[in-house]
Amino acid sequence: MSRSQPDRFDVVIIGAGQAALATAYFLRRTPFSFVMLDAQEGPGGAWRHGWNSLRLFSPATWSSLPGWMMPPTQDGYPSRNHVIDYLDRYEQRYGLEVVRPVRVTAVERIQGGLRVSAADRQWEARVVVSATGTWSNPYIPRYPDAALFAGQQLHSAHYVEARPFAGKNVLVVGGGNSGAQILAEVSRVARTTWVTPQAPLFLPDEVDGRVLFERATERWKAQQQGRVIDQPVGGLGDIVMVPPVVEARERGVLQSVRPFERFSRNGVIWANGSESLVDVVIWCTGFRPALQHLETLVPIDREGRVEVQGTRSIQEPRLRLVGYGEWTGSASATLIGVTRTARSTASEIAAFLSAHPTDNGPG
Ligand code: FAD
Repeated sequence: MSRSQPDRFDVVIIGAGQAALATAYFLRRTPFSFVMLDAQEGPGGAWRHGWNSLRLFSPATWSSLPGWMMPPTQDGYPSRNHVIDYLDRYEQRYGLEVVRPVRVTAVERIQGGLRVSAADRQWEARVVVSATGTWSNPYIPRYPDAALFAGQQLHSAHYVEARPFAGKNVLVVGGGNSGAQILAEVSRVARTTWVTPQAPLFLPDEVDGRVLFERATERWKAQQQGRVIDQPVGGLGDIVMVPPVVEARERGVLQSVRPFERFSRNGVIWANGSESLVDVVIWCTGFRPALQHLETLVPIDREGRVEVQGTRSIQEPRLRLVGYGEWTGSASATLIGVTRTARSTASEIAAFLSAHPTDNGPG
């Protein structure tokens, strides 16, 4: 296939979700050129794919990217459409250039930089920021005889609403927020069983995303100062008691059981040998970083991660990873938390580019 000449930038950002936008916000204050390449048809990143009833864990003022506060909502916490609209307007407000839809398939070394390839286009950059999130890489644990099961299976990444499951026997697997929220609404129309590896951790009713972020900040500060702090329950994955989950608790459906042993054709077999008939399994078992495009550039470990110092790849100093989770920066997978990581990444990139002015390479 013939390809046109590659476009050249100082920085190519792969993705245009919240992590990419926050990084772009700070890069725009530097003299360096940059562009974002995003696989979606429109703005919003993973929020375009959340289920219909999904709401944020924190009020708008606690869910903002750098520079511009998310507009407040009239009723409760922001909906996913509110977030998509905010991210759309954020792009426009700061004139951030996004080329879409572009799915990057590979990044490779060239002299003085990196080449970024999609199906029929290429870009060259002196630094690449990967900000591709996790949504496109859903994780489903292996259970024996899964291939035997004749019922329906879907991951929370593709769950939209409860209606299609009305009257069915549904197994919801996974003890995080997705599991609790999807269980809460599916249990209104179907017979549900909630399977979690351990008893789920419910936060106190009055704790929302604000508190989680404050705790993450405390941990980050302590880490910077070489201190270890003893904090109460409250990791970013613990279950926030949003109103539908509280309501499900009141209906008595927040009871979970430990995992089954294996699948059968029509359901699952439990540790005591009994069988339950199951029509649908909804896997709320999380995601892995979406890093397939980096496979030929740097090693990716069993957890699907790249070895980093801060956000810089240890093996490839021209590669940065922003937004995937705690391993690329404290609270960096949240709207409010990614600012800190994005700011330091942009200033480190600017320092790197200034220190390698010509490179005889792209840009
Ligand atoms: P994404 O939003 O996934 O953006 C990455 C972009 O990169 C996407 O547009 C994707 O299409 C694109 N992409 C991927 N691969 C490629 C490729 N190869 N080439 C080009 N483009 C590519 N966060 C909060 O801050 N507050 C909350 O209250 C909150 N609640 C949540 C509730 C639930 C139930 C869930 C599941 C998540 C919640 N989150 C919340 C987390 C939040 O949705 C994600 O962490 C966030 O979307 C990650 O942002 P990102 O920019 O890193 O990735």
